[in-house]
Amino acid sequence: MGTKGRELLGDKVDHILELLNNALADEWLAYYQYWTGSKVVVGPMKGEVEGELIEHANDELRHADMLVERILQLGGTPIIDPKEWYKKTNCGYDAPSDPNVYKILNQNIKGEQCAISVYSKLLKETMQIDPVTYQIIVEILRDEEEHEEDLEGIVEDLENLTK
Ligand code: FE
Ligand code: FE
Ligand code: MG
Repeated sequence: MGTKGRELLGDKVDHILELLNNALADEWLAYYQYWTGSKVVVGPMKGEVEGELIEHANDELRHADMLVERILQLGGTPIIDPKEWYKKTNCGYDAPSDPNVYKILNQNIKGEQCAISVYSKLLKETMQIDPVTYQIIVEILRDEEEHEEDLEGIVEDLENLTK
């Protein structure tokens, strides 16, 4: 990012960078939670659930990529040590220690709901001061809303199946 671009953000840039790095920690943990979940999950509709979890894992990784690109554009340093993930995360990590399909789906629904509130807050914070970051967050938020809806849809299907 050039001089003029940064000038637009003024003294808000450090704050935005902090929020972006916190979100980056969330995305990596979400990626790993989905990815591990897809490996261990057992129960009805296992194949379909596995596919959905892997798809979401890949989306979270893409979100991490989008955030890092913006952090670098703003002249910041993305988290370079995974130890920082736990220190900076908003939503934490919910280990899929119980492989039951409902447990895993509900853990990830909770994670998506946390992500949706984090990104909604980020939208409010960037709206007036950083329209480019704002656009990136809109794109990510759209995916997180879709993730939540997809997982809730699978839970509904499962419930109908086992009625
Ligand atoms: Fe994400
Ligand atoms: Fe998501
Ligand atoms: Mg999906």
